Amino acid sequence: MLSDSVVTLKGVGEKVKEDLHHMDIYSIEDLLEHFPFRYDVVELKPLHELIHDDQVTITGEVIYPPTVTYYGRKKSRLQFNVQVDQVTVKAVMFNRTFAKKHLNKGTTVTLTGKWDAHRLQITVNHYQLGELNKDVAIKAIYSVKGSITSGRIASLINQALKENDHFIKEILPPSYLQKYKIPSRSEAIRWIHRPENQNQLKHGRRRFVYEELLLFQLKMHLLKQRTQLTNQGFEQRFDEKKVTSFINKMPFKLTEAQEASLVEILADMKAPIQMNRLLQGDVGSGKTAVASICLYATINANFQGAFMVPTEILAEQHYDSIKEIFGREINIALLTSSVKGKKRKEILEGIKQHDINLVIGTHSLIQEEVVFHRLGLVIIDEQHRFGVEQRKALREKGLQPDVLFMTATPIPRTLAITAFGDMDISVIDQLPIGRKEVETYWIKENMLTRVLEFIKQRVDAGEQAYIVSPLIEESEAFDYQNAIDLFYKLQDYYGEELKIGLLHGKLPANEKESIMKQFMRNDLQILVATTVIEVGVNVPNATVMLIYDAERFGLSQLHQLRGRVGRGDRQSYCILLADPKGEIGKERMRIMTETTDGFRLAEEDLKLRGPGDFFGKKQSGLPEFKVADLVHDYRALEVARNDAKDIVERKLLENNLDFKQLKEQLEEVSFDQRFD
Ligand code: ADP
Ligand code: MG
Repeated sequence: MLSDSVVTLKGVGEKVKEDLHHMDIYSIEDLLEHFPFRYDVVELKPLHELIHDDQVTITGEVIYPPTVTYYGRKKSRLQFNVQVDQVTVKAVMFNRTFAKKHLNKGTTVTLTGKWDAHRLQITVNHYQLGELNKDVAIKAIYSVKGSITSGRIASLINQALKENDHFIKEILPPSYLQKYKIPSRSEAIRWIHRPENQNQLKHGRRRFVYEELLLFQLKMHLLKQRTQLTNQGFEQRFDEKKVTSFINKMPFKLTEAQEASLVEILADMKAPIQMNRLLQGDVGSGKTAVASICLYATINANFQGAFMVPTEILAEQHYDSIKEIFGREINIALLTSSVKGKKRKEILEGIKQHDINLVIGTHSLIQEEVVFHRLGLVIIDEQHRFGVEQRKALREKGLQPDVLFMTATPIPRTLAITAFGDMDISVIDQLPIGRKEVETYWIKENMLTRVLEFIKQRVDAGEQAYIVSPLIEESEAFDYQNAIDLFYKLQDYYGEELKIGLLHGKLPANEKESIMKQFMRNDLQILVATTVIEVGVNVPNATVMLIYDAERFGLSQLHQLRGRVGRGDRQSYCILLADPKGEIGKERMRIMTETTDGFRLAEEDLKLRGPGDFFGKKQSGLPEFKVADLVHDYRALEVARNDAKDIVERKLLENNLDFKQLKEQLEEVSFDQRFD
């Protein structure tokens, strides 16, 4: 039986059992679901199809038996000829003198090794007497721990398959197997372990990709449904006419994408459920504008709003610009760690008494001692791991406001619906009209002087520039030293003619603020900075960005940095100073110069770095899939997602017998405890 312990297999003693346990294999079923991590494929092809330098396999008859030459200490070279398809092929084999006695004239032998198409010679690393019994031999290779080998696992799986094939139950409803033409579970398990040809391998894998993604998406949809049922939210009854006239008073017309997102968000706010939504949009696409409208609506409905951003500088910037948008009628407070003493006390009291309608602060706002009177909407900007922690913090305070997360990191759809599958997602995939594309150039060190002169020209024309300082091994401690060094170098270079500011993470908050303000007023023409300027800063008069060591950044991060320029109506420039060593690095620089489309860059970033690295280490929020691969299996992901949605909406797991096995399986698997 599948639930039997692996010790019931022949040859599994104490030692093997322990090795298997270390690999999380306890039962026969666990063993059968330990899938190969790759395959060695041996395929017999005619000689003229073999590619020079490839690893190939040929079968032929020995027509000239081996001669052995010795060289060095204990080293030998064996050489013989075989006839393959009427052609004589030279075979060379090292340090295997013992093979000589098997390779007599007339013997048929199968050789695997590196092919030299010019000399018709094979350098053999594996030989086998006789012919291959098939044209293709696919060998599964398993990951292992301890002293157990891949071959040993393969033979245990063989044994388990023979004895248990008929116990493997189907878990997908028959209609799905038909619809997608996928093999049954037991067939697919056999095919994935012992494929007889590429086709079986493909379809066996295809089945498990779908199964895995379907199970995962089902977990997500059930979680989402559960959250909506337990988290009753407020119905926010705002005056739609007032909201519309607020929108009409804005100095611009909303883009279609902004409008569509706004409609989705406002609908959530009106509904008696707790909104849990992610708003994605490139830098400058107008997310903050949308956020202000939503905050206006919540205040109009007589609730309080909270707007949380990653840094104090940003909190201050947003405070200033939102105060301008809202005018005097709304009481707004800025609450950061630099607000202290009596002032802080007053603000806290104001929030408690609902004298204050809107608080702007850093992410810690909801975790601190702040007590809201009637919190209706929380907007959280640029938080890397969205959702889980913040919602938990709110729950612990007994609050259930609508929550909107915002990010300027365009996240490829496959990752978004996987990592944030329990959230609703709105996308602003359009920039306001009239924006000029930022021109991007990739340069090497020898062009630096020309670039510095170019910056001088732009400054003479009344514009400003950001210069992002070099990175040292991603260590923040050293980064600021680099920024300081660069600052002095540039001061030397430009002399008294223009004013340069320096911004890095180690500066006290009030100094940062004063430097940012000077830069906004054009009292400083150049701002040298570490990546602290990455998020949110808005100075439309800045038209040039020079980034040192650009090869050390990921595409998404470069895109974020570049987003600091191109915010006004003048042509802007981004210059990447980079000397990447590898092909991937060069490719990244090329892509940056080719496109400013954040979603395309994100897709490329995903392809180049893989899903694990996309969000940065450890905070990916992505589950570990056994078979599915988010880069290549995106179509299966969409299909599985739709099916899961349908199953949950129509309550098929409860009402339909065909889904009984699927339901049981769902209770057994776990991708990440957050979703269980
Ligand atoms: P994000 O928060 O997505 O980076 P913002 O909301 O800060 O974008 O908008 C960037 C700039 O574009 C701001 O100066 C804002 O006033 C302006 N803006 C926003 N929406 C529009 C629009 N529909 N048309 C023109 N300008 C807009
Ligand atoms: Mg609501």
